[in-house]
Amino acid sequence: MVDKKKNHLAFTYIGDCPVYISRKNVKKYNFRIYSNCVKISVPKNKTDQEILEVIDVTRTRLISKILMQQRKVKNNKDDEIPNVITSILYLGKKRPVVFTDVEEPEYKDGEFLLPKDLRYEDYYTVEEQIDNLLRKLLRNIIKVELDKWEEKTGLKCKSFSVRKMRTLWGSVTLSKATMRFNFYLIAMPYDSISSVVIHELTHLKIKDHGKDYYKLLHSYMPDYDEADKILKETSVPLQYIF
Ligand SMILES: [Zn+2]
Repeated sequence: MVDKKKNHLAFTYIGDCPVYISRKNVKKYNFRIYSNCVKISVPKNKTDQEILEVIDVTRTRLISKILMQQRKVKNNKDDEIPNVITSILYLGKKRPVVFTDVEEPEYKDGEFLLPKDLRYEDYYTVEEQIDNLLRKLLRNIIKVELDKWEEKTGLKCKSFSVRKMRTLWGSVTLSKATMRFNFYLIAMPYDSISSVVIHELTHLKIKDHGKDYYKLLHSYMPDYDEADKILKETSVPLQYIF
C-alpha cells in the first residue's frame, strides 16, 4: 500500500531542518529555502541516491541560506552575524570589512566598504561581490604595472585576463603576446604583483627560464628575487577571505 503521507515526510535533514522532496516534471533542481525547512523540486527520473548526492555537495550553501532565513525571521539586524566576512587579505595585509552607506562595494583608505544590505545576504553573495571588486582592483594594478614596464622595456602585452588559477601566478601566450594573471595575486604584496608582470613581459624576449632570461629580468627589476620569494612560498588558491 502506498503511503499517501510519504511526500510530507522529511527526505533527509540538514542540521535540524527537514528537507522535503517533491518529484515533478522539471528539468532542474529547484531549491526553496526557509528558516525551518528546505523544499526541493526534483526531476522525476532522479533516484534517491542522486538526490542525496546533490544535497551533499550543496550542503554548506544550504546551511548558509537557512541561517540567512533565520536571521531574517528574527529581524534583529543589530545581532552579530557569525558567518559574515570581517576582513580581506589585500596587497599583503588584512583589511577590515565595513558595512556602510555605499551603493557598491569599494576599497577606500585601507578598508573595504560594502553596502549595508549585503550584511544580511548569504556568504556566497557577499563573496561574489567582493570577487568582482578585487578583480577590478587587480586589473587596474596590472594596467599600471604593464604601462610602467612596457615603457621601460619596449616590450608590449596585447591583452590580458584575470583568472582563478590553481598553480600559476601568471602565464603568457608568446604567439599572441597575451597574458593571464591569477586572481589571487590581489592578496599578495604590490611588488610581488609587479614582479609577475615583468616576469611575463620578459618572456616576450626570452622564452625559457635560462641564465640570459634571469640576467635580463634582473636588469629590469634588481629586487625581483625578493618580490618573487613570497609568491614561491605561497600556494594558490589562497584563502583570501577570513
Ligand atoms: Zn616564466
